Amino acid sequence: MVVNYISRTQWGAKPPATHNGRFTPLWAWRVQGVVVHHGGVKHPPKGVAAVKAFERHHLSKGWDGIAYNWLVDETGTIFEGRGWDARGGATKWWNSKSISVCYTGWGHDPVGVNVLESIKALTVEAEKRFGDLWVSTHRLKGSTDCPGGWLGEWVEAGMVVAKNPSDQDWAGVVAHIQFLKAEVAKKPLSRWRRSRGETVRLVQTRLLERGFDPGPADGIFGKGTAAAVKDFQRTQGWLKADGVVGVNTFTALFVQ
Ligand SMILES: [Zn+2]
Repeated sequence: MVVNYISRTQWGAKPPATHNGRFTPLWAWRVQGVVVHHGGVKHPPKGVAAVKAFERHHLSKGWDGIAYNWLVDETGTIFEGRGWDARGGATKWWNSKSISVCYTGWGHDPVGVNVLESIKALTVEAEKRFGDLWVSTHRLKGSTDCPGGWLGEWVEAGMVVAKNPSDQDWAGVVAHIQFLKAEVAKKPLSRWRRSRGETVRLVQTRLLERGFDPGPADGIFGKGTAAAVKDFQRTQGWLKADGVVGVNTFTALFVQ
């Protein structure tokens, strides 16, 4: 997937405030995951104004420039912060090992579908560039409540299911599952492929919900997951019990 975004030039970013005019490079081989943040302000500025406000704030702290690698505003528009090739400054201890993505809004309240899809699209793009990655939240990496309760739960639950059903953005969930289904159609999940990542974790969670025990929902498609998938497939009758999660098994698991 090509991620469309507003580049630094397009939003008028200031050049890095370093002696050589460049950000510290991010070494691709060190990148292990994606960390999600939020703006942390209840009624924040929107769009370019939000991005510029972060830049001003971060420069005022003596930092090299806007700290996030990527930002997503409340319409789902993606803005380039430091991009893919520069080390971010938003996640202490993890800046050289992760890509930071900041939702410019307030993550304690339910977040719109477009925003969720853009955050997801960035993680997919990151995995294309850096290989399999974990996806985490700032609050799991430091003592902060960033990216807020709602967004934090959405990310930590595998970017689909919130813990509190009354807070759930169901339209967002449906859109997200359709998106994952398209991904699975292109690249089925299986043990022999050594599939891993948040879609695998989601499948594991769903198997458990439906009464099939894959073992821990660790995002790694191992023996236990394959066995649970086969058990599930047998109960469906029309599915081949091969232990592979292709589009039919995925649909049966989530949509029916
Ligand atoms: Zn944060």
